[in-house]
Amino acid sequence: MKPKRAKPKVGIAKCPPLTRSEIMRAVKSKNTKPELLVRSFLRKRKIKYRTYGNLPGRPDIIMLQYKAVIRVMGCFWHRHSCKSGDRLPKTNVEYWSVKIERNVARDRENKIDLKKRGWRVIDVWECSLKKAGWEARLGTRIKVAARRLCKGNE
Ligand SMILES: [Zn+2]
Repeated sequence: MKPKRAKPKVGIAKCPPLTRSEIMRAVKSKNTKPELLVRSFLRKRKIKYRTYGNLPGRPDIIMLQYKAVIRVMGCFWHRHSCKSGDRLPKTNVEYWSVKIERNVARDRENKIDLKKRGWRVIDVWECSLKKAGWEARLGTRIKVAARRLCKGNE
C-alpha cells in the first residue's frame, strides 16, 4: 500500500466554483469507490473482467466469458428508488433534473441495446454496496448470468 498523499491545505470554500463541464467530468469519472469495490470483489473471486470496450453506454465492467456487464450506478445521478435517488439537487435544480432525466433515459436505452446484442446486464446500485451481504447477492447474479450461457438458451 502506498502512503496517502497529503491533501493540499486549501479549504473547500477557497476553491473557485466548479464549472458545469468540470462537474460533469467528475460525475462521469471512472474508478469511483463503488466501482473499485465491485472490481476487487471480482478479483477475489477470480472472475475475469475488463473495464473498456465498445458497448452501448460504456459499461463499467465487462465480463466477456459470461457475456455480461456490470453497471455500477450512482443512486443520485441515475435516480434510484432509494433515499439518495429521491433527493433533489441543491442548486441549479432545473439543469440537474434535466441531466438526471437524460441519464435515466439513456440507461434504459443502453440496457435495451445491450440485451438485443445478447448481453446480460447487471445493474449494481451504489446503496446496495452498503448493505451487508452484497457480495453474496452479486455472486448469485453473476452465477445466473453464467448459467444462462452454459445452457446456451440465448
Ligand atoms: Zn440507491
